[in-house]
Amino acid sequence: MEEREILQKGEGRMDDKKKFLSVWLLLAGFVVLSVVVLVLCLRSDTRLPDTVGRELTEAEREAVKARNSPLTDYVYLSPNADFPRRSEIRKITIHHMAGDLGLEELGKAFGERDRRASANYAVGGDGRVALYVEEENRAWTSSSRENDDQAVTIEVANDEIGGDWHVGSAAYEALIDLCTDICERNGIRELSFTGDETGNLTIHKMFKEDTECPGPYLEEKMGEIAERVNERLKTETD
Ligand SMILES: [Zn+2]
Repeated sequence: MEEREILQKGEGRMDDKKKFLSVWLLLAGFVVLSVVVLVLCLRSDTRLPDTVGRELTEAEREAVKARNSPLTDYVYLSPNADFPRRSEIRKITIHHMAGDLGLEELGKAFGERDRRASANYAVGGDGRVALYVEEENRAWTSSSRENDDQAVTIEVANDEIGGDWHVGSAAYEALIDLCTDICERNGIRELSFTGDETGNLTIHKMFKEDTECPGPYLEEKMGEIAERVNERLKTETD
């Protein structure tokens, strides 16, 4: 064998070794990355309270209600939230359901992890109140982390699809009751609707350009909602 041939063969073997090594490095890197991703997923899941995304026992429901509004009729806790919220509660944000899904249906939707959406409360067309995210946690409702960290968010059922997105009187009166109760329990002395995010009564469209939420009907009522809640807060502290 020529000397050159021997050298070439030697180099060939070296190349094979290098290839072998890089395949193994690549594989090892992939395995390490998979483990890291898996651990991160498990960690973020284990951080969720065990009360989310399932029916609660009677005792669990009562315990949840005791920490939130006594006006609550239905509880189904959503995993789509930050546990706990980072700011103290200073605001209320109103949304509309874009229809009347029913509190149980909405609970099911918010119970799905993929939906990435929730609200603290919803008021049904019949005036019943649902709790989906406990007040101590931040619901994912208003397209603004900053707002939702400070706000209790409420979805209100409509009795008209489209148009003004009208809200019936049972839902409207229940909304006034719920807002008053949230203010009382969280030390909010007065609600003010300024038409922008500087007030402590806010609406979804202040934070998202391409939404009508909560619709013309409720938007027009914001000043009146603040007034009626404030009247009650005043008479109750007098
Ligand atoms: Zn909304």
